[in-house]
Amino acid sequence: MTTQAQEGSVIERLRTVPLRLLRPSALVDFVLFLACEKPAVRLTVDNEDGLEALRKWCGRWGFDCAVDEEGFACVSSELGTASRILEIDRRADAHEIELGRALGYPACCCGRVAEVGESEIDSYAAAVARWSFEGAYRRINPIGYMSGRAFISHIPCSPACDASLAIADRAYRFVIEHAGEPVLSELYRSLVVSA
Ligand SMILES: [Zn+2]
Repeated sequence: MTTQAQEGSVIERLRTVPLRLLRPSALVDFVLFLACEKPAVRLTVDNEDGLEALRKWCGRWGFDCAVDEEGFACVSSELGTASRILEIDRRADAHEIELGRALGYPACCCGRVAEVGESEIDSYAAAVARWSFEGAYRRINPIGYMSGRAFISHIPCSPACDASLAIADRAYRFVIEHAGEPVLSELYRSLVVSA
């Protein structure tokens, strides 16, 4: 990368993410990445314009970006790690913990997914969708993730996972602090509904 990364506030960086070309869940990922120290984001980008816009965005703000042939992209705050993260995911051996940790998921939740196994992950996610989350733990309900309305981007290990709540609370506070921000309006609305 020869171009100099620009300086900019978190909200400026978030405003410029090419969200219209990405899946709705990308909003959750980038809020966590930019405002909550999530070290990297892995996302499916199913169109060339989206990939191009994402690469440009990474160049502008000095983030590492990698794309593989299967349409997975990775954005990382640490140069050189994005392609390594995509490689972890392509490995044939069990890699749930290594991948999850690289993406900033809590160790307890990575451990749970490793126990479940990658092949059973969909049925585990379906079971989690039926859990009831009480009080503040409603913020770790991952069910709205696909539609961009969640405060975590991983599957929690329990409906009372404090490590997940610590992440969700940071995202929650960020959304509250930027309540008037158009890019966050849907997330803010979902928060009001769930409060
Ligand atoms: Zn956990």
